[in-house]
Amino acid sequence: MHPLRSLILAAAGNDVIRRLVATAPVSRDVVRRFVAGETTADALEVTRSLVDQGLTVTLDYLGEDTTDKTLAEQTVQAYLELLDGLHRDGLAKSAEVSVKLSAVGQALDERLALENAARICAKAAECGTTVTLDMEDHTTTDSTLRVLAELRGTWSWVGAVLQAYLHRTEGDCGRLASEGSRVRLCKGAYAEPGEVAFPDPHDVDRSYVRCANTLLRGDGFPMFATHDPRLVEIVGSRAESLGRKPGSFEFQMLYGIRPDEQLRLAALGHTVRVYVPYGVQWYGYLMRRLAERPANTAFFLRALVSRK
Ligand SMILES: Cc1cc2nc3c(=O)[nH]c(=O)nc-3n(C[C@H](O)[C@H](O)[C@H](O)COP(=O)(O)OP(=O)(O)OC[C@H]3O[C@@H](n4cnc5c(N)ncnc54)[C@H](O)[C@@H]3O)c2cc1C
Repeated sequence: MHPLRSLILAAAGNDVIRRLVATAPVSRDVVRRFVAGETTADALEVTRSLVDQGLTVTLDYLGEDTTDKTLAEQTVQAYLELLDGLHRDGLAKSAEVSVKLSAVGQALDERLALENAARICAKAAECGTTVTLDMEDHTTTDSTLRVLAELRGTWSWVGAVLQAYLHRTEGDCGRLASEGSRVRLCKGAYAEPGEVAFPDPHDVDRSYVRCANTLLRGDGFPMFATHDPRLVEIVGSRAESLGRKPGSFEFQMLYGIRPDEQLRLAALGHTVRVYVPYGVQWYGYLMRRLAERPANTAFFLRALVSRK
């Protein structure tokens, strides 16, 4: 891991730094670059502006690793309110939701997480949109795929996420590349041991390409989540040579990251979905984004020193 990345992630776990960053007025601007805001209204406003620019959206209510039933219930309620808002504002055709099972009780009890996710899916169906289950660290992969399979029994459109850094993922892509199956392919965001994941970023990229080929050759709907210009290009040209038309797959990027590229791909006729996080628990998410790229940290530090 890059030393700066480890440093920022270590700082992220430090309570004093957490309090400083979370309460500094300047944080608000930096947070706003990567996070839509803290409330449902903020999330809907950002969604509207992205949709008006020809993009589509998936919304993530921030919060993970809940070991408290009440917090899990609060997360469910936040999603239900958001879905009502998307429906009311006429945004449900262009915006769906992404759910972390750990935020709705997976660590407490898989069945509780399934029931909570099912309530979110039922509401999404009522509102005319879809749900994707985010993928978390490798200890949860089997459980998340089990919950996915159960949910798909009722709502075949529930989306899965597979992480190219895991050795197992090529096989999972093959199993999930079936008709009607929505699969987001990403590199993977967690610190994973060498027994289960490729430590070398080049191997992760190679795995990404193999997995993308499997998904593009299959009958499902692949969703390519990456900001990597090389991978975007490779996926685009593989899709073309395999006869995949724009609209039979999509690109996904995070809110605030490569916004010009998002618009460029949309102008070429591709569906581009922006992953928009919101909610009061933005701190951990922001730190992960800063750690991913030194330029993001420079942006943050510049904002700090130039504060009035
Ligand atoms: C829509 C979406 C959903 C995701 N869902 C999940 C999930 O469910 N589970 C999970 O584990 N992970 C998820 N991720 C995170 C993902 O796994 C990666 O950690 C993250 O996307 C960084 O990988 P990357 O493919 O963008 O490539 P990286 O290796 O981070 O970057 C590759 C290249 O992309 C370009 N780039 C990256 N960032 C920037 C930037 N800020 N500005 C300009 N260029 C940049 C640079 O050229 C860089 O060299 C998701 C990511 C996205 C986009």
